[in-house]
Amino acid sequence: MEIYLDNSSTTKPCSEAVNAAILSMKENWGNPSSLHRLGFNADRAVEEARQIVADSLFADKNEIFFTSCGTESNNTAIIGAVNSLKKRGNRIVTTSIEHPSVLNTMRRLEDEGFEVIYLKPDQSGVISENDIFEAVNNKTILVSMMYVNNEMGYILPLEVCKRAIKAASSPALLHCDAVQAYGKLPVKLKNSGIDLLSISGHKIHAPKGIGALYIRNGVHIKPYLSGGGQEKGMRSGTENVPFISALGAAVKALPDIKKQLEKTKELSEYTREILIKSGFVKINSKTDALPYILNISVPGYRSETLLHFLESRDIFVSSGSACSKGKGSYVLSEFGLSKDMVDSALRISFSRFNTKDDADKLLLALKEAVNTLRRSY
Ligand code: PLP
Repeated sequence: MEIYLDNSSTTKPCSEAVNAAILSMKENWGNPSSLHRLGFNADRAVEEARQIVADSLFADKNEIFFTSCGTESNNTAIIGAVNSLKKRGNRIVTTSIEHPSVLNTMRRLEDEGFEVIYLKPDQSGVISENDIFEAVNNKTILVSMMYVNNEMGYILPLEVCKRAIKAASSPALLHCDAVQAYGKLPVKLKNSGIDLLSISGHKIHAPKGIGALYIRNGVHIKPYLSGGGQEKGMRSGTENVPFISALGAAVKALPDIKKQLEKTKELSEYTREILIKSGFVKINSKTDALPYILNISVPGYRSETLLHFLESRDIFVSSGSACSKGKGSYVLSEFGLSKDMVDSALRISFSRFNTKDDADKLLLALKEAVNTLRRSY
């Protein structure tokens, strides 16, 4: 049987999500903008899903806008915010460990003349409070910080950003890429100081190609797409009703987040322990990281070689993030890992469907790998 330990790349759609998408395509395929009954039914399905997503974030229904993915949510939030506030300043603050959908958007904005400050993890592997306070000034128009880093599981200090923005009397909006946190950590938006927040369906057992952006009531950003004015003008384009319904169903099917976090913590700690005991595995993720993500290295063995060996045993993990497609991870380098550790890194990422048995089989296969494969360096 396949052992899937690559859930931060994507998750298997849950049966609730699959059924909702199929039902929508078979029976509820109208255009939500149509004025007849078929349109009305499709619109109702979209609004039901919007309410479910809003409730899961402790947000209002009118603060949720559906997009095609986390990448689109990040682009819309960042470009929209900057275009709305550019008269008030020129500085953007972000981190050097963001996902490419944030970093490459920042590079585009630098080309347009914005000043972008990239905060780096310090020697202890954290983005320091001091650095955040120093970076945010009264000309800062956007702070964009991810909730959880997708490769290390590091939980970033968002609450410090909120205080730094206030202390600097800055007009900045606070954007958060919560793609790896949503559904795994309790994310409560009311009074959080977060103005914009991105989520993605395929990390929580909904299909690929659906995401959402939270825009706090009272915050106005310029839309990224223009067209027929769907999503209250924020995201033109006929709504992807089947996948919106599937997202709603996947969110509804999420287990109690705190209880599941505890279970995953137990599984992650167990995995850590048995891997450390093996003597040939080093753990890169800190103990206070999100337990769903465990980054390890097997020094002397290349990530990709290990990945394919594990694959031959029907065990699926990731080398760096899925987006880096085999390139050495810039994120791990930013965390100060040596080249050997980066080149031999694997990311194990859990979902609620993984068990200790999966961890045992991973260890057995890794043992077999180091006994079979020749060291690469
Ligand atoms: N942000 C983070 C932290 C991610 O891990 C990912 C995907 O891996 C994304 C954004 C992009 O999401 P999507 O694949 O839905 O575009």
